[in-house]
Amino acid sequence: MDEEINPSKEIFRTPKGMRDILPKEGNSFYRIENACRREARNYNFQKIDFPILENIDLFKKGTGLYTDIVEKQMYSFRTKGNEKLALRPEGTPSVIRAYFQEGMRAWRQPVKLWYMGPFFRHENPQAGRYRQFHQFGFEVLNDGAAVIDAQIIQLFFNLLEGLHLKDLVVEINSIGYPEERAVYQLALVKYLKRHFSQLCPDCQRRIRINPLRVLDCKQLSCQKIVAGAPQIIDYLSNECNNHFKEVLELLEELEIPYDLNPYLVRGLDYYTRTVFEIATVQNKKQDDEDQGKDKELRQTLVGGGRYDRLARSIGGNDMPAVGGAAGVERIIEAMKRAKVKPVYPEKPLVFLAQLGERAKKEALKLIEEFREKGVKVAELLGRDSLKAQLKRADSLGVKYAIIIGRKEAINRTVTLKTMKTGYQTSVDRDKITSVIKKRL
Ligand code: AMP
Repeated sequence: MDEEINPSKEIFRTPKGMRDILPKEGNSFYRIENACRREARNYNFQKIDFPILENIDLFKKGTGLYTDIVEKQMYSFRTKGNEKLALRPEGTPSVIRAYFQEGMRAWRQPVKLWYMGPFFRHENPQAGRYRQFHQFGFEVLNDGAAVIDAQIIQLFFNLLEGLHLKDLVVEINSIGYPEERAVYQLALVKYLKRHFSQLCPDCQRRIRINPLRVLDCKQLSCQKIVAGAPQIIDYLSNECNNHFKEVLELLEELEIPYDLNPYLVRGLDYYTRTVFEIATVQNKKQDDEDQGKDKELRQTLVGGGRYDRLARSIGGNDMPAVGGAAGVERIIEAMKRAKVKPVYPEKPLVFLAQLGERAKKEALKLIEEFREKGVKVAELLGRDSLKAQLKRADSLGVKYAIIIGRKEAINRTVTLKTMKTGYQTSVDRDKITSVIKKRL
């Protein structure tokens, strides 16, 4: 039968860039999710879950047609019913769609939502870059105040610090509104054209399509040109300038360290005013001692900003909003580097061993009674050998083993064994849960 389905007997593997998340890593996910829940409670955010598939136009119009995410990385397809859908590459457009679709305008404003789940981008897989990865995001909808921008940054910063990540830096910039950007873009294109031959082929193309993207090109040759480029900050209106000044003052007030990066624009079209990233900084010298390199390794964990025009671009009314998204896999890698332990599930302190059919039934009932009392019990019900069961109890490092043999099942007693000393005593079957509860 197996041969018919898989004649070559090849073991199937996950698609490129996608991974199984095994229990050990799952514990780190659990820890991060707990941190999100804690901050959501502290800052009054409510959880939202939205579909993994969305109408493709939501991202074309929301994220932007000429962004790498939409242009190059989106998994999209036509369904049998001729709908054009995409696997969600990011969460923000869905949150805005839900705001209008679900009538959140009638809720108390601003609406503060958070989410966590898998996202998909057809990228070249490499360390910290996958085709299926996980993000959590926090978004504040319908509030334009600078204090909210500062609070979103504070939330992500606190959340990462709460996961014991150190050496965090916030990079921040303001990119104003599209009107201001249009004027800036003219000056930028003029400058870039003067240095056309020194730019990489991608950036030579970007000059025509999306010149701001040249600013975050990773090629060294392009970065050298960018270092002398005009800065967007010089093209902002007074209102945008004041808004940005206020955000920075608040960050100083909150003692959140930040670096002003005049060339930070982020890869998505919808940002307005504040844009930010939070990265961990690691001195590579520690890892690369023998090569004597003293290079700083920055891994971006969070990206976000204000997106006052996104609602309009996907068909809603204008609505100021700000938020950010963090990469879970990247955070886990940073936690590993910082030697932060994942949260392990609580270990059982009691093992229940059984011998004989009647004892097995009794054991099933007793497990239920322990469950009701909130005591976690380990067992090996599928095995009959007492030796094998006690060996497992030993390897789990439990404090007590409870043994129900044939005699105990008839007498309505159990044998309670203290694993450390080997001391055994008989306890009334109906009292064992209370006895254990008292001892633990
Ligand atoms: P973005 O939505 O592109 O602003 O990304 C926000 C964060 O998500 C980044 O800072 C990363 O931590 C994470 N991230 C983005 N793309 C990937 C990917 N392909 N694989 C793993 N993490 C990612």
